[in-house]
Amino acid sequence: MERMKHYRVGYGTDLHRLEPNGRPLVLGGVLVEHPKGFGPVAHSDGDVLLHAVIDALLGAACMGDIGTHFPDSDPRWKDADSSELLELALAMTNLHICNVDIVINCDRPKIGPYRNEIASNVSRLLGMVSGGVNIKAKSFEGLPLQGGVEAIYVQAVLLAQLA
Ligand code: MG
Repeated sequence: MERMKHYRVGYGTDLHRLEPNGRPLVLGGVLVEHPKGFGPVAHSDGDVLLHAVIDALLGAACMGDIGTHFPDSDPRWKDADSSELLELALAMTNLHICNVDIVINCDRPKIGPYRNEIASNVSRLLGMVSGGVNIKAKSFEGLPLQGGVEAIYVQAVLLAQLA
């Protein structure tokens, strides 16, 4: 048990609506093409995947959540690049990330073609050697969402070590 005390686990989720007049769809810092051109409606760049990873990271550090540090009421974070928010959060936490497991839930777009690029970009942003980030994709089974909008829901769990 002594050896385990420097390890921390963190879990984060995020959900964004996708709408016809949304922002460009960015997942894990990678521009992804939606077949109907839908994108997120958000204060920042709306990168739902990085928002879930930031919450997992802050959770592992017992440092609250993304809204605590980067509130959407603060004009500083309007149009913010979530890659930069992740780098800021990482610098605050003093953690080395061991691995991250991510589930992307959406009916569209198909994640498969982007999986490797997203994994390697998230790995790079977290200062990890490649191979430590796993991306899984699940669908909503075509269930109709309220109001006919689409959505992406992301869950992320990570293991970290105190630096
Ligand atoms: Mg978000």
